[in-house]
Amino acid sequence: MAKIYYEADADLGVLKGRTVGIIGFGSQGHAHAQNLHDSGVDVVVGLYPGSKSWAKVQEAGLKVGTVDEVAQTADVIMILVPDQVQKQVYDDHIAPHLTPGKTLMFAHGFNIHFNRILAPEGVDVSMIAPKGPGHLVRRVYTEGGAVPALVAVHQDATEGALATALAYGKGIGSTRSGILETTFREETETDLFGEQAILCGGLTQMIKNAFETLIEAGYQPESAYFETFHEVKLIVDLMYEGGMAKMRDSISDTAEYGDYTRGPRVSPPAQKAEMKKILDEIQSGQFAREWILENQAGQPHFKALRRINAEHPIETVGEEVRGMMAWLKQGK
Ligand code: NAD
Ligand code: MG
Repeated sequence: MAKIYYEADADLGVLKGRTVGIIGFGSQGHAHAQNLHDSGVDVVVGLYPGSKSWAKVQEAGLKVGTVDEVAQTADVIMILVPDQVQKQVYDDHIAPHLTPGKTLMFAHGFNIHFNRILAPEGVDVSMIAPKGPGHLVRRVYTEGGAVPALVAVHQDATEGALATALAYGKGIGSTRSGILETTFREETETDLFGEQAILCGGLTQMIKNAFETLIEAGYQPESAYFETFHEVKLIVDLMYEGGMAKMRDSISDTAEYGDYTRGPRVSPPAQKAEMKKILDEIQSGQFAREWILENQAGQPHFKALRRINAEHPIETVGEEVRGMMAWLKQGK
C-alpha cells in the first residue's frame, strides 16, 4: 500500500527560524504563500521586477522581493512559475544563491525529472504537489480542510529533506486530508499522462466528437450542448462521490444498459493502444523535448491550436446556454 502522511507525521517546528521563499504568485503561488503565512511560517514572495502581482502580494500582507533577493534570504525555495520558464528563472536568479543546506522545492516534477534543472549537491530537492488548482488549495484551507497532495524527495543532502517537505505540506494544510508518497518520475509521468489521455485531452475530444455528431445530424446546437457537454459534470460528480456504482444507481436502467453495451464501442481497444503510445512518448522524453523546443520557437503551434480550439462552435453555443443558467454566474 502507498504511504500516506497525516497531521501527526509532520512537524511545523522544522520550519521555525527558517524563511520560505515562494517564487511566483499565480495559481499555486498565491495559495501556498497565504496558507503557509496563516500557519505561522515566515514567508517571502519572489517576483520579477515590475510584476503585476507586486501590489497583490502586499495587499495580502506578505513580504515581497525580487527572485534574486528571495533566493538569497530564503532557506526553503519553492518554484511556482510556469514549468516552461522554470529553467531560465532558476539558472539566472536562483542557482547563484543555492548555498549548501538550503531546500529547493517544486509542485510538479517536469524540470527535475527531465534534467532541465540540475541542483547542486549540498541542496535538498523535494516536491509537494497539491492535487488541485490553486484557488481550491486556498479556499479549502480557509474552510478548515485541505486539498490532498503528493510528496517526493529527489535529493536528500541534509537527511532532513522529507521532514522539511512534510512540514511545508502541513503549512499549506495538506496533511489534514493526507499526503501520498511518490517519486519525481511517477508524479511527472502520471501527471502528464492523466492530463493528455483523459482529464484534458481525452475528455474534450470525446465531448467535441459527440457534439459534432448531433449537430451534423441536424439537431439544435443547444440540445446537443446540454446532452454532450453540460451533463458531463453531473455524471462526473456522482462518480466522484461514490464511484461508477453511485452514478449507475442514479441513472435509468435504459441509460445503464446503453452504458454497458455502447460505451466499449466508442472506446475500442485501438484507443487504449493509443494511450499506451502516449505514455511511451512521455516516458521516453519525446513529449518533453517537443514541448521544450516548442517554447524555444516561441510557441507557434501551441498558439495556433489555442486559437483554432477557441473558435469551435461548441464554445459559442456553450456561452449562450450557460447564460441561461443563473447559478453559474455566481462563480464568475
Ligand atoms: P501560473 O501560470 O498560475 O503562475 C505563474 C506565476 O509565475 C505568475 O504569477 C507569473 O507572473 C509568474 N511568472 C511567469 N513568468 C515568470 C518569469 N519569467 N519570472 C518570474 N515569474 C514569472 O502557474 P501555476 O499553474 O501556479 O504553476 C506553478 C507550478 O505548479 C507548476 O510547476 C505547475 O506544474 C504546478 N502545479 C500547478 C497546478 C495547477 O492547477 N495550476 C496544480 C499542481 C501543480
Ligand atoms: Mg496536472
